Amino acid sequence: MSRSDELFARALEAMPGGVSSPVRAYPSVGGTPRFVREAHGSHITDVDGRRYVDLVCSWGPMIAGHAHPAVVEAVQQAVAGSTSFGAPCEVELRLAEAVVARMAGAVERVRFTCSGTEAVMTAARLARGVTGRPLIVKFIGCYHGHADSFLVAAGSGVASLGLPDSPGVPQAIASDTVALPYGRLDLVAELFATRGEQIAAIVTEGVPANMGVIVPPPDFNRRLAEIAHAHGALLVQDEVLTGFRVSATGAWGLTGQRDGWTPDLFTFGKVIGGGMPLAAVAGRAELLDQLAPLGSIYQAGTLSGNPAACAAGLATLGLMDSDAYARLDSIAEQVAGIVDRALDAVGVAHRLNKVSNLFSVFLADEPVVDFASASRQDRAAFSRFFHAALDAGLWLAPSGFEAWFCSTAIDDDDLEVIEKAVAAGARAAAQA
Ligand code: PMP
Repeated sequence: MSRSDELFARALEAMPGGVSSPVRAYPSVGGTPRFVREAHGSHITDVDGRRYVDLVCSWGPMIAGHAHPAVVEAVQQAVAGSTSFGAPCEVELRLAEAVVARMAGAVERVRFTCSGTEAVMTAARLARGVTGRPLIVKFIGCYHGHADSFLVAAGSGVASLGLPDSPGVPQAIASDTVALPYGRLDLVAELFATRGEQIAAIVTEGVPANMGVIVPPPDFNRRLAEIAHAHGALLVQDEVLTGFRVSATGAWGLTGQRDGWTPDLFTFGKVIGGGMPLAAVAGRAELLDQLAPLGSIYQAGTLSGNPAACAAGLATLGLMDSDAYARLDSIAEQVAGIVDRALDAVGVAHRLNKVSNLFSVFLADEPVVDFASASRQDRAAFSRFFHAALDAGLWLAPSGFEAWFCSTAIDDDDLEVIEKAVAAGARAAAQA
């Protein structure tokens, strides 16, 4: 019995499912999750001493690699001055200013939270409070955290587990969320034509990545903003996953910033906290200043704007300059190419969906454009791929409904490991 097996058996007796977040338990690929001892740069080491090249990056945050000296030093310095104040501090202000500076023109105010869930929940409350309307429109298969309003036709772990509509969400709350198939502007326009006066906001992922990565149709987010605005509603662009990852200015940088339009509210998470519990809702002053204490829409947090978390985020953003993004894009291009070629070589049908440095490989023989097509991927083949790659030293998300995350720490030696592990995965996937 491996040490991971032992720890997982113990964990099942102390924690539901043995984990703090469901997908970590390998619910869709089966087997025992490996317990992590430590991680440095592009590598994770498990408690049995096995080393893996990490293509999960803690589900996004570790964009500059694990335990980067600049991040570790910033956090150590911060915690030496206490782990929490419950009062304003300078590092928190500096991170807010850094976000405003990066998102020039699109973001004037930043309110920090401890998780992406809270950030999107706050954005929804703000949109409802400002418009005085009840409805939120979301897309099937998009994941916006686990607040009640968003566990309706959701992606990520709930999709992997087949629980997109969770028990425990009151019908009265769920019925104020309308879920539409991704990419269908015609259905969005139709919905607004009939119920436009009741809609507070459309909430969409900057680039959907929680049903695997879906390439947004051209101008999709801009058209959403236009339709919403024509009816007095807001567009909330959830960039918890894409923010400061797919470009220096996230998904907005690939679309709105280039084309001259902005969503009304953004949510950020993951990279903004450099691996610490930190996220944010952000946007124009006119909207954000309606949050308490200036406004009457309430939102708060004992640990929000935590000094160590803000220090980690600030250090991480500091590492991600234009050279770092160019490097990340090139690494992702190489990794995606390796996977594509390995699957081609063994004749396994697949679709590579990629937006800048974010991609997914679906074991599917038709284009994957929404949750319905993502659901037709060959899950059994993915499980075989996953386990063979894991055994060969590659740490992948344990579900075909997730993105592959690269870090700037991946080097040529890692690419060799990835090549061998992916080849092993592809061979396993081919054996029906
Ligand atoms: N929105 C998106 C787009 C996400 O990808 C996630 C997490 N994967 C969340 C919200 C929720 O963030 P958290 O897990 O920090 O609550």
